[in-house]
Amino acid sequence: MLRLDGVSVRFGAHEALADVDLAVAEHEIVCVLGPSGSGKSTLLRAVAGLQDTGAGRILLGGRDQAGVPAHKRGVGLMFQDHQLFPQRDVAGNVAFGLRMHGVSRSEQDARVRELLDLVGLPGAGRRAVASLSGGEQQRVALARALAPRPRLLMLDEPLGQLDRSLRERLVVELRELFGELGTTVLAVTHDQGEAFALADRVVVMRDGRIAQSGTPLDVWQRPADEFVARFLGFDN
Ligand code: ATP
Ligand code: MG
Repeated sequence: MLRLDGVSVRFGAHEALADVDLAVAEHEIVCVLGPSGSGKSTLLRAVAGLQDTGAGRILLGGRDQAGVPAHKRGVGLMFQDHQLFPQRDVAGNVAFGLRMHGVSRSEQDARVRELLDLVGLPGAGRRAVASLSGGEQQRVALARALAPRPRLLMLDEPLGQLDRSLRERLVVELRELFGELGTTVLAVTHDQGEAFALADRVVVMRDGRIAQSGTPLDVWQRPADEFVARFLGFDN
């Protein structure tokens, strides 16, 4: 459903993505791991159409996305810094993408309720975004990204600000939800535990390149090189 062929992104002399090849199958959940600055967010932004690429091709559903604007790519993206709309309440934020997709008012309300329950914020629909904690805002952003049920959902550190118990619960529920909806997911996380619990496949990035791609078990049992082993916390 998603394919990158030799995608590169440069910022001046710095190569944020260097000749990246990656394929994500329909319904697959792929988690991207890697140190800060390794190009994880740049990868998602390039696929979403928010970042120009210097070289390579990005295909969605077999179609080259060169020149296709972000809003026409049919992908959902939840940013690392969530970027909620401060002038809309919680429900207004979650329902944002639904109005554009012509979803009926009653269906919008039902989906907002369902998603706020899922992310552990039942009844918060009328609250002002500014009154929420950082972790609560993150959960609203997650609900907003899920609401339109995009064919490809990309999440950048979706649970980063949440405490461990909430994260563990959400990972399980998200996996279930993605399975039910048949959503294809490309998610970035710093947290190996989260990646291993959520993903069908893990991709480890280093300096704009893919250092390893495999099932969580593969990567865990057979790290491709010393970098991956160290990154996973093996000391020797
Ligand atoms: P983190 O885990 O900290 O979010 P990341 O893996 O998401 O890191 P990216 O945001 O993709 O990293 O950035 C990759 C590299 O490209 C970094 O060195 C970053 O400083 C650089 N970079 C990203 N965006 C820009 C930009 N707009 N201009 C210049 N350099 C950039
Ligand atoms: Mg990032």
